[in-house]
Amino acid sequence: MLALVAVDKRIRILVVEDEEAIRAGLLDVLVFHGYDVDSAATGPEGLDKALTGRFGLILLDIMLPGMDGYEICDRIRAVDRQQPIIMLTAKTADEDIVQGLQLGADDYVQKPFSIQQLVLRIEAVLRRSQVGRDQARLLDLGNIQIDTENLSGQAGGDEIQFTRREIELLSYLAQHADRPVSRDELLLEVWGYARNSGIETRTVDIHIAKLRRKIEVDPKQPANLITVRGAGYRLVTRD
Ligand code: CA
Repeated sequence: MLALVAVDKRIRILVVEDEEAIRAGLLDVLVFHGYDVDSAATGPEGLDKALTGRFGLILLDIMLPGMDGYEICDRIRAVDRQQPIIMLTAKTADEDIVQGLQLGADDYVQKPFSIQQLVLRIEAVLRRSQVGRDQARLLDLGNIQIDTENLSGQAGGDEIQFTRREIELLSYLAQHADRPVSRDELLLEVWGYARNSGIETRTVDIHIAKLRRKIEVDPKQPANLITVRGAGYRLVTRD
């Protein structure tokens, strides 16, 4: 019983990956870094484990037999918007990455990935999911009031839902509302990426564009989340 309690305290990660060599390698790395692990080799098995188990994080391949990672992510999000998910993708086309992010994955890692890069991203996603739980507050942008704990906003009677990453991005900008924040700083502070890690700043721009569609009266003429030419982005708060 004592051993069970000790194991339960560790963060449990579900690996959904059909390629056996990659799956076995991931499990080895995760166990080496102190995580408890479970795995699935098909889409339906992955979805079933994701919905019935409790995981601190899900590593989700895209091309899987039976059901692809996009659909699995979509189905998880339909019932649990907080579950941290990192997509593993062999696809590099921007549209695939955008689709993964729009379905609510917290991050993606492109194959082939380095172990070090993967572990850093896992730690960053887990750290943010903890921070998000500890900071409950209301963010007032005038036309929309956002509950950062419930990941939702109220705008003129409409409820708008946010991903955790969007809320983290907004929260960071709100904490530094007195100045513009650069893309590099956002990648470092919100995504947890080291400087000059080769991560595209396009990731930031995709999220900013998505956020503007949710929080701006006119996304093409942003009044809340403004671009400061040559400097980055700044959030105009009302509180
Ligand atoms: Ca695969």
